[in-house]
Amino acid sequence: MIVAIDGPAGSGKGTVAKIISNKLGLVNLDTGVAYRCVAVKVLDNNLEIDDEVEIPKLLDNMNIEFKKENDIEKVFLNGIDVTERIRTKEVTNIVSEVSRIVPLRIRVTDLLRKMAEGKDVVMEGRDITTYVFPNAEIKIYLDAKIEERAKRRYKENIEKGIEMSYEEVLENVIRRDKNDKNKKVGALKIADDAIVVDTTEKTISQVADEVEKIIYSRK
Ligand code: C5P
Repeated sequence: MIVAIDGPAGSGKGTVAKIISNKLGLVNLDTGVAYRCVAVKVLDNNLEIDDEVEIPKLLDNMNIEFKKENDIEKVFLNGIDVTERIRTKEVTNIVSEVSRIVPLRIRVTDLLRKMAEGKDVVMEGRDITTYVFPNAEIKIYLDAKIEERAKRRYKENIEKGIEMSYEEVLENVIRRDKNDKNKKVGALKIADDAIVVDTTEKTISQVADEVEKIIYSRK
């Protein structure tokens, strides 16, 4: 079973996917992590963010692992813990530009499909309901007002010790929304058969309950 969840930054996808996967015993795949790991490699290799030739090749030597340590979900890139690094300002600032590159998206999509093979998963991102798994059994699109999404990201950043003003976060979210909605392949959009949940005025547990009900009603 594939539960596909898409939505813009700060819509609550990540947190809801974690809650749902724990509750229902599904594997949780946060697909933004793959693009964030590529962005880390772009920085480490001093590549231009629009290098259509070299950037897709980075996947040749990339091994991404999700591991739970002391109940904390960690991300390892080629054996190195990048859990914190992938959320830094420098990575967040380039990731949506890097992920515009079509040959990269095609390769990441292949990788995501392989990662889900034979498993029951909750996969969240921008193009899961439309491009990665257009035939997913359950499709959900989470959304919220832009100021609310920026506020959530700003609060998360403070908790993680990432220094960005609210204005900077808002500007970043606006720019990423624009980039993500205008990609040639895998653009962020609402699939015709997706159920849209507006999370603006709702708590995370209210949204998780709503998503759980949708899953049961479709199963
Ligand atoms: O979800 P998260 O904010 O971590 O994603 C980081 C970036 O990766 C997004 O802004 C988007 O540009 C890109 N992304 C994507 N397709 C996905 C998941 C993420 O293009 N399925």
